[in-house]
Amino acid sequence: MAAIDPDAAVGLCLRCRHVHVVRSRTGGRFYRCGRSATDAGYPKYPRLPVRSCDGYEPRGAPATDQPPRGGADGAAGPEPALGE
Ligand code: SF4
Repeated sequence: MAAIDPDAAVGLCLRCRHVHVVRSRTGGRFYRCGRSATDAGYPKYPRLPVRSCDGYEPRGAPATDQPPRGGADGAAGPEPALGE
């Protein structure tokens, strides 16, 4: 039996600082999006794998209170120019 690649099965949520892994009594894992608690634009339990998400922030990244900026692969958008 082939092992399941979690990166392929879960996608961005696997490494997102906003995810909460919920384990069932039967050993199943569910990935709950923490952003869904304050932003109805995010599903509580995203359909996996998540390949693109503008709310994605890697684990270990400093917390931001900023709303997410769009990026096709979850990457932050361009920084605004300073002094303009
Ligand atoms: S913000 Fe996006 S990548 Fe992060 S847990 Fe929610 S759905 Fe997944």
